[in-house]
Amino acid sequence: MRRPMVAGNWKMNGSRESITALLAEIKAGIGAVTGTDVVVCPPYVYLPEVRRQVDSMPIGLGAQDVSDQDSGAFTGEVSGAMLKDVGCTYVIVGHSERRNIYGEDDALTARKFAAARRHGLIPILCVGELLEEREQGVTEQVVARQLDAVIELEGVEALAQAVVAYEPVWAIGTGRTATPEQAQEVHAFIRARVAERNADVAAGLRILYGGSVNGGNAKDLFGRADIDGGLIGGASLKGGEFLTICNAAVQAG
Ligand code: PEP
Repeated sequence: MRRPMVAGNWKMNGSRESITALLAEIKAGIGAVTGTDVVVCPPYVYLPEVRRQVDSMPIGLGAQDVSDQDSGAFTGEVSGAMLKDVGCTYVIVGHSERRNIYGEDDALTARKFAAARRHGLIPILCVGELLEEREQGVTEQVVARQLDAVIELEGVEALAQAVVAYEPVWAIGTGRTATPEQAQEVHAFIRARVAERNADVAAGLRILYGGSVNGGNAKDLFGRADIDGGLIGGASLKGGEFLTICNAAVQAG
């Protein structure tokens, strides 16, 4: 049985004040969220403050990105060792905003995945197709290519200590959610692709769905066989709604 997981990607949002208010709301309701891993991923600069505020609460800390390098003359980069040092357990790699706005390709994403693992972080590997790719019927090829880049560099066993997030790019921040059937189809494809190499790793792999998940659609999505929770953007900035989504994962688990 895979343990459900809900991760909030706050993206480049918040201030010390707003984050404190958001965390207060989440902390007040987190007691009811059982058997589910809940993670928040604030901007880098707020990681230590969030760590301090969630201390002793069942709320994990994740970063939104990591350098592929370990240290040195890489201005603006943040290493996996630094993320570990400030209390992160998880890190998102290959988010579509990194891939599509900042031009990060499959090879760099795979190196970031490797860097996360080198420093004992659990990578949340994002994969997903653009709208035109879905319309061209190449969703599976795109997702397979993104997944294979990591498997080829790190080996399929690396996925035993990782999480995959299927995030169709056309569904992120658009209010246009994939239907549970569309999402399940791709999740099943991802699991089958991993199973071709290692059935045990595939069976244990948590595959989150991301893309306009909200309090109203989470339960239906998380109820599907291969959807193990969600990576949540916009709705993770509203404490009550984020908790509703976490509770949907509890019910589905
Ligand atoms: C995301 O940022 O990963 C995401 C899925 O965003 P949203 O939930 O806003 O679509």
